[in-house]
Amino acid sequence: MFSLKNKVAVVTGASRGIGQAIAIKMAESGADIALIYAKNEKKANKVKSTIINMGQKAITYQCDVSDFDESKMLIYKIMQDFQTIDILVNNAGIVKDNLLFSMTNEDFNEVIKVNLNGTFNMIHHTYLNFVKKKNGRIINISSILGVCGSKGGANYAASKAGIIGLSKSVAKELAAFGVTCNVIAPGYIRTDMTNGLSDSSKEIFAKEIPLKKFGDADDIAAAAVFLASEESKYVTGEVLKVDGGLLM
Ligand code: NDP
Repeated sequence: MFSLKNKVAVVTGASRGIGQAIAIKMAESGADIALIYAKNEKKANKVKSTIINMGQKAITYQCDVSDFDESKMLIYKIMQDFQTIDILVNNAGIVKDNLLFSMTNEDFNEVIKVNLNGTFNMIHHTYLNFVKKKNGRIINISSILGVCGSKGGANYAASKAGIIGLSKSVAKELAAFGVTCNVIAPGYIRTDMTNGLSDSSKEIFAKEIPLKKFGDADDIAAAAVFLASEESKYVTGEVLKVDGGLLM
């Protein structure tokens, strides 16, 4: 197992699904965790208890990552509580799917604001800490839909494609300071986000996947732990698909 001993990880969207799995797996690997959530305080506190019971430090923070000033204050508080940040995982995300003709301006902008601006805000407020340490790991959660597009989810696909462009730019800018920035592009993963799909849709989608099933949040968490670890020090600007072979 990769070690994250003595590391501090900030994980956005850590109250549920993929973010929860990443936070717990990073804690299992020895990291202390700052858990960010938007609304689900109860669920975030449950994740916190799980991590504290493992013997790691964990604190929850409520923050809308799409708000530039709120996320600045968030990083300030985390730095006060943990003194440093070693790993930043930008996982918080939303979907508001609709075909183009019925997609509103508001729905387009909101998805871009949370998924893409939220990722930028967190990086913007954290990167100086990494630069000063000459070390740091940034892991951004995109989606295979950001690579191949989405019929009925132009806002989501655009936000996730934006995350890839943002991440490669950050990787280039921060490489000289020993900071890596990578992307994980999940395929279909069993979480609240995909629970809304009908059983028949799930079956149709699963048939298209070479490994013939949806992934688990833990599959993404395992990739995140690798990208956060010392062993990934020569990997940057990469888009790691974790999708059961769906997009080859
Ligand atoms: P969930 O819907 O299960 O969880 C979303 C998380 O994001 C929650 O913790 C939520 O907090 C948090 N969040 C939402 N909006 C904000 C905000 N404005 N500020 C801070 N936190 C916020 O999603 P998943 O776990 O399925 O997805 C996690 C990431 O993985 C997303 O970026 C998603 O796009 C991506 N992804 C998921 C796939 C899948 O199949 N599930 C496939 C490809 C990519 P709260 O609980 O408080 O509301």
